[in-house]
Amino acid sequence: MRFDILTLFPDMFDGPFRESIIKRAVEQGIVSIGIHNIRDCATDKHHITDDMPYGGGGGMVMKPEPIFRAVEAVTQKGDAHVILLTPQGRLFSHQVARELAQKTHLVLICGRYEGVDERAREFLANDEISVGDYVLTGGEIPSMVLVDAVTRLLPGALGHPGAAQDDSLASSLLEHPQYTRPRSFRGHEVPEIILSGNHAEIARWRRRQALQRTLERRPDLLERADLSPEDREYLAHLGWDEDLHTPLDEN
Ligand code: SAM
Repeated sequence: MRFDILTLFPDMFDGPFRESIIKRAVEQGIVSIGIHNIRDCATDKHHITDDMPYGGGGGMVMKPEPIFRAVEAVTQKGDAHVILLTPQGRLFSHQVARELAQKTHLVLICGRYEGVDERAREFLANDEISVGDYVLTGGEIPSMVLVDAVTRLLPGALGHPGAAQDDSLASSLLEHPQYTRPRSFRGHEVPEIILSGNHAEIARWRRRQALQRTLERRPDLLERADLSPEDREYLAHLGWDEDLHTPLDEN
């Protein structure tokens, strides 16, 4: 997987991409990441990348020419999926990360100020992604979120091959609680069941914990979760009323 990130602040990426799983994924050739300064694609003497909005109003808007040049410079092979990070985009989620993990080349445009000239959105981007219903100062942190979430889904990126499948939200359920040593910490004990060595019972306990957590914290997720008849029975026993939930196709 190739990522090309177009930004006015390339130094912001130094830390996050040089540690831990992303660093290892780069070293192992699972991903390669190019960070490009949009300012380098401004051809005027002062390398100006922003200007006042037509029609007035506060703030500055990122000019189209440097963004077009920057995208064109990294998309010559033609297989690129160009994503504009914007609070107006579709909401990022585990499902979207999984979808993007199937691509071979992602180009991420990081906006700043009041955002990018509309023509970059309309004629360059194939996709627009928001990392949440709040406004950040730039697209750099959203890009880091996207690269991190997509990379960990790629084969070989995580030490334990099943880790990504077990994660919260991978199956539309929140993950069960996790414990490690010591067995007793300040009088708080690890649940007996996970010390039992009975793998079938542990799996059953974990599944039930995941169902209970999801019901308590994110009942909305249950609507699209893959639930067995036993799961449904357990949830009903916890007070879940399936009929009170709006079917997804009515949303
Ligand atoms: N005026 C813009 C609007 O209302 O849509 C917001 C501009 S924001 C201050 C500057 C840049 O930060 C955006 O162009 C975008 O790249 C990025 N950004 C801010 N919030 C974001 C979010 N929730 N998801 C993705 N990108 C975001």
